[in-house]
Amino acid sequence: MDEVLASQVAAGEVVERPASVVKELVENSIDAGARCIRVEIRRGGVSLLKVVDDGCGMGRADAELCLRRHATSKLLDAAGLFDIRHLGFRGEALPSIASVAHIDITTRRAEDLEGTRVSCDGGEAEPPMSAGCAPGTEICVTNLFFNTPVRRKFLKSDDTEAGHVEHQLKLHALAFPNIRFVFTREGQVVFDVPATHDLRRRIADFIGQAPAARLMRMRPTEAPGVRVSGYLMPLSAANRNRRMQYIFLNGRPIDDPIVMRAVRDGFGGFPTGLHPGLFIYLEVDPALVDVNVHPAKREVRFRRPSEITLAVTDAVAATLAAHARGESDADEPSPAPPPEQPAETPRTPFKLRPVLEPSQEELPLPPAPAPAPADTGSAPAPAPQEEPEPLPFRHIGTLHDTYAIFENSEGLVLLAPRAARERIIFERLLAGNRHPIASQRLLVPEILEMDARDMGIALEVKPQMEQAGFLISLFGRNTLRVEAVPAFLPLRRVASFVQELLLIFTRGEVRLNRSRAPFEPFAMQLARQYARQEDISALLQAPLPLLAELLRCEIPYCTPTGKPTLLPFSMSEINRKFQAQ
Ligand code: ADP
Ligand code: MG
Repeated sequence: MDEVLASQVAAGEVVERPASVVKELVENSIDAGARCIRVEIRRGGVSLLKVVDDGCGMGRADAELCLRRHATSKLLDAAGLFDIRHLGFRGEALPSIASVAHIDITTRRAEDLEGTRVSCDGGEAEPPMSAGCAPGTEICVTNLFFNTPVRRKFLKSDDTEAGHVEHQLKLHALAFPNIRFVFTREGQVVFDVPATHDLRRRIADFIGQAPAARLMRMRPTEAPGVRVSGYLMPLSAANRNRRMQYIFLNGRPIDDPIVMRAVRDGFGGFPTGLHPGLFIYLEVDPALVDVNVHPAKREVRFRRPSEITLAVTDAVAATLAAHARGESDADEPSPAPPPEQPAETPRTPFKLRPVLEPSQEELPLPPAPAPAPADTGSAPAPAPQEEPEPLPFRHIGTLHDTYAIFENSEGLVLLAPRAARERIIFERLLAGNRHPIASQRLLVPEILEMDARDMGIALEVKPQMEQAGFLISLFGRNTLRVEAVPAFLPLRRVASFVQELLLIFTRGEVRLNRSRAPFEPFAMQLARQYARQEDISALLQAPLPLLAELLRCEIPYCTPTGKPTLLPFSMSEINRKFQAQ
């Protein structure tokens, strides 16, 4: 009886509700190499919860053993604890479940002539029997919590519990697209998703074809001990809640603030209240992570967190940048349905609440206007030759010499000129990956005296400066000479601008990752500093071209660091405030 009690205590940890039983059983099926997993429930999983797989099955001895505590076949030695390739390794799940329910296990290995059935009722095992069955394992749990009435009382309605089961199964299905999952509730098939090698297809099974077609594929990114891949939804299709944000670590969903922070950094911040869809898959060397800190927790503990978070940030930022450059997902194994807009001109047309209405028809935007007068013309201006269509916006004024005011058919829009420039400059800098950014030579080079301690870092930033169109040479031991600046960024005070830019890095406010030298974080700082010194009243003199250029950006609604560039006020919102009909 002590065994049973111990199991019931353990069950408190492992078995909270039907969904946690499903989690444990399905993880075992995955570990058993199943290609197809069927889950059936009745009454929210309380009266019946059945998991059937076509995995390796168990021989008679293992079948008898698996209901005993710590009977795991996966923990070979103590070192194995730190090398968890399997989802389960505690050997507690089956006995815990058996202690609070009735459980029948029918199982057969492919090589055995007959299968085995073992049953257990509230921890009391019955002798095993022979059974005729297909290879694989069927585990049937009935009358969950029959002997722990308090636990049973804590369960919510059948619908709610069934919803949790469905969600749990969906997580497994997203984590393992190469396994077929069938979910049946009260005899009705809720979903049956076929095995596929194409992750986008599996995602589409859950979010629908049209949204899945908008997903940006992440180029798999590798760093020592970690590999990052998956799909991202563009910010322009972001949601207002986190429901479409999934991060998996070695096949398990995680909800970890450190990883989420890294994702957000890669996006350059999420605009307030918006949560772009994420399907991110991390494969981390099991030696670098503790997943089983607590069986039910979805937080993880990394042994070298900064390497993981940098890899995640880089992978996300590189995906957004590639998408901004109009690179398609052409290297996918099986192409997804065609995107709604041509990949060459990635545009995010502006609607008053476009982010909440991804399915709505989007207005095409006018082509790029002629380069601004400040532009030397040598910059890679993608200016098309046709007559530009008028913007569907009318400039109706300026607010406090600070914001441009526009109206369109849907309402009112305020534009923050500096924030807009920051976004535009950032995306132009990133576009430099495709066409190198043109430089403009200075008539007289500028000399920068550097603090000796800062020279090392200044030299580290030099490649990024040059990618952006600056030309910098070493001139004496602690002196730099600026010979050219980006042609599309005319500078009045070159020396102080460059000095301040370098300060951001030498002061350690922002660090570039040395080994992979990403350009995006640098571009972010450069754009911010450039926009900061721009003359607002000059920008406000040509507000329409500024708006047009902003709207041609991949992510027009916010700066790279997530501050808004545009504030829309729809007529319905305004009318509501005036209590108009
Ligand atoms: P763990 O998964 O942590 O090893 P469990 O209590 O979940 O512990 O399972 C105990 C053992 O039962 C497993 O190690 C495995 O050998 C066996 N087992 C459980 N479910 C299955 C299954 N669906 N197919 C094959 N073997 C299984
Ligand atoms: Mg297990």
